Amino acid sequence: MNVSNLFNPNLDKIQISAIRRFDQEVSKIPGILKLTLGEPDFNPPQHVEDAAVAAVRAHESHYTGMSGLLELRQVASEFVAEKYSLNFDPESEILVTVGATEAISASLMSILVAGDKVLTPAPLYPGYEPLIQLAGAEMIEIDTTKNGFVLTPEMLESALVANPETKVVILNYPSNPTGVTYNRAEIKALADVIKKYPVVVISDEIYSELNYTGEKHVSIAEFARDQTIVLNGLSKSHAMTGYRIGFIFADASLTQLIIKTHQYFVTAATTVSQFAAIEALKNGKDDAAIMAKEYIVRRDYIISQMAPLGFDIAKPDGAFYIFAKIPADLNQNDFDFLLDFATEKQVAFIPGSSFGQYGKGYVRLSYAASMAVIKEAMVRLTAYVNDKRGQ
Ligand code: PLP
Repeated sequence: MNVSNLFNPNLDKIQISAIRRFDQEVSKIPGILKLTLGEPDFNPPQHVEDAAVAAVRAHESHYTGMSGLLELRQVASEFVAEKYSLNFDPESEILVTVGATEAISASLMSILVAGDKVLTPAPLYPGYEPLIQLAGAEMIEIDTTKNGFVLTPEMLESALVANPETKVVILNYPSNPTGVTYNRAEIKALADVIKKYPVVVISDEIYSELNYTGEKHVSIAEFARDQTIVLNGLSKSHAMTGYRIGFIFADASLTQLIIKTHQYFVTAATTVSQFAAIEALKNGKDDAAIMAKEYIVRRDYIISQMAPLGFDIAKPDGAFYIFAKIPADLNQNDFDFLLDFATEKQVAFIPGSSFGQYGKGYVRLSYAASMAVIKEAMVRLTAYVNDKRGQ
């Protein structure tokens, strides 16, 4: 008996990740150089790996409490206080999650019901919409392409007015895929709008330690604390994607609701990883700075190579992505353009349309790849563009 028709009909709207699909497609090409995935190419810091091994040897193999180890919540609390001037009580306002991914899903699933709307500036990270759709809610993309990918208070307010069913605004800065981030004045101005409306902000700050502006990352929770759920984690700051450690920081009135969903999703985050995370946040406060220095060199190099070819790039101030507009004289279908480039020159980027409707005509490169790979990819891109132009 086929029982697939019994499944949640909202699943029909959900696609397998376009990034993964493109990546699988081009991975079949022998010798392909990939600037596709948002995964640091560094190892975790040695002292963190040692802490993980020590936890295994100490038989730290049991469930932790559902919020995570208290010591980890304490060091996480100290970390965000020192770095971002945020004050969250380790006892009641911090949850350790299975990566930022579970923080996103536990937050969205705790808030949304059918008919709700979620606003987010676009192009955007593709991890949000499927969960919104699963809940029967709808995501509304706010087009930022005409403003260098920066959301203004006016754009936010007019979207809130036009969509009174909005319950959640998702912000992600530094942004995947554009690399754009916001300074203190810009974040405060967005918070001033938020405070006028009964909405929750889910602020995905997973790239907060990869900010290249020379200024401190500023969280919107500093200005609209009662309405904000801050998401963060160790995947990008400490190159610990596989450890799957993330965090929710929110007022106790929200955290205590999300914990209900979190508990039944995962029980608790992995114990060994939590011990490694204590070490990362306690003794590796500036581990990201070493990687950030290298990322800046790579970013500047890519821009220096792509801009003369006619790719339009809003200078990314954080994360490890370049989001570039395909020059007008080349194939404007980003998927076809990149498939042809991958087939002819064996280099893969990600089509911009994977990041929502406003990403069409763009490509995303991840510079979480070695300089040798990046240099070769740029040589091949230059040759490809010159071939197409008949030069
Ligand atoms: N949020 C954004 C914007 C991301 O780019 C990613 C990963 O690429 C995540 C969340 C997921 O992070 P994690 O590995 O902590 O689940």
